[in-house]
Amino acid sequence: MATTEPEIVEMPDLAGQWTRIKGRLQADVGEVEYRTWLRQITLADLDGDEITVTLPTRFLRDWVSSRYGDRLRAMWQSENPSIRRVDIRVGAGLPRQTPLMTETPFVPSHPVEDLRREPPVPARPVVGVATPAWQDDRSEPRSDLAAPLDARFTFEGFVVGKPNEFAYACARRVAERPSSPGFNPLFLYGGVGLGKTHLMHSIAWELTDRTNNPVSVAYMSAEKFMYRFIAAIRSQSTMEFKENLRSVDVLMIDDLQFLIGKDNTQEEFFHTFNYLVEQGKQIVVSADKSPSDLNGLEQRLRTRLGCGMVADLHSTTYELRISILEAKAARAGVDVPAKVLEFLAHKITSNVRELEGALNRLVAHANLFGRPVTLETTHEVLHDILKAHDRRVTIEEIQKKVAEHYSIRLTDMSSARRARAVARPRQVAMYLAKQLTSRSLPEIGRKFGNRDHTTVMHAVSRVTELMERDGTFAEDVELLRRLMES
Ligand code: ADP
Ligand code: MG
Repeated sequence: MATTEPEIVEMPDLAGQWTRIKGRLQADVGEVEYRTWLRQITLADLDGDEITVTLPTRFLRDWVSSRYGDRLRAMWQSENPSIRRVDIRVGAGLPRQTPLMTETPFVPSHPVEDLRREPPVPARPVVGVATPAWQDDRSEPRSDLAAPLDARFTFEGFVVGKPNEFAYACARRVAERPSSPGFNPLFLYGGVGLGKTHLMHSIAWELTDRTNNPVSVAYMSAEKFMYRFIAAIRSQSTMEFKENLRSVDVLMIDDLQFLIGKDNTQEEFFHTFNYLVEQGKQIVVSADKSPSDLNGLEQRLRTRLGCGMVADLHSTTYELRISILEAKAARAGVDVPAKVLEFLAHKITSNVRELEGALNRLVAHANLFGRPVTLETTHEVLHDILKAHDRRVTIEEIQKKVAEHYSIRLTDMSSARRARAVARPRQVAMYLAKQLTSRSLPEIGRKFGNRDHTTVMHAVSRVTELMERDGTFAEDVELLRRLMES
């Protein structure tokens, strides 16, 4: 009797036990952490006193076993006393749902790409354009007409600030009431990585998600549009192509500049465009320039494109970059010190995609090694990105940045004033000039109101000393140094 006891305990409801364990884990670690790391654990096998669970990647396996291995074992034991060991393995056959886990972004030399901490809902093709005609076209899957939408690109996930508030408002408006007079077509333009695609997807999500009166939306890049068109010509199905395209309520074409020089495709797009607008259907287009600046696009098309609402996404400001970083860090559930966010927002000014990539890498690194994010680790982890953003720094720039930082006048860098509030920042600037440029002490002295080289020497040793004594001051100087380092 006694020997069969374990079987009696374990057989009845392994699945139920597992469900309870997952529930407890989730309650234990919180929703975000659970979704990020634990959701994909699958119960694989029970062999004697050993339970086997699997994860889809080696990275996830290592991470889960080092961070949650003991807890998992304890939970299993309390659910099912016959289990003594938990084997955590890499198991095949699970869909790769979480790019964060399956990419290898932790090698510093790896290019920064979309690292999604929050496992996205699987991308879903937009609705309403599924017709048998498209499915018959075997040269391409149906989803090619309407490209899948990125689950992260929603209005909720879009951080609004001065540079993009107008474009955002227009996008919102179109999503609420498509084909309103004055908003058709909606033309969004701006530089790379400023949120055009994000806003377009947001509109599409909103429209296709509506419960009452959902509309059919086709979103695709201009490149895809051309590709479809050419494929249709080749397979002699242009009629179908046209009909299908003309049957949608909302047509969205991303990166229209791609059609420059592609005259036939432009022509086709122009006719589709006119047809849809005449039928009271909404068009949304994005491009890197305003309609009037899209040289190489046919004049009549440019004119029509500019007829509705034209909204541009301006380059980000420091404030917007900070807000975006804050929002994304909060969403990732990782505590990133304000100093690090400020540093990133200062350093990576080109576009949001890069900013996001840098933050994602930091977050992933913090999770992987279980270390908090600091300026130090930031520098380490983002070494390659930061280098790309570096440039030669001049004494003038140092003076300017330091003056800004301490809110003193630039002229005080060379003035004779000796009040501490002015003298200390001046010393910091001298110290940084010594650290970051190849100028000699006399040269540096001259730039600071013709001071003697011994003054510079004194400043350097004073700042060094203070940095050793005062952690906050040291961090401050360190931040400044990293902002300007070449
Ligand atoms: P574009 O199409 O203009 O080149 P994207 O829309 O692809 O740029 O944006 C690049 C990345 O930056 C995306 O991951 C997007 O989510 C993000 N992004 C851009 N602007 C914002 C914003 N205002 N708030 C949140 N994320 C943003
Ligand atoms: Mg884009």
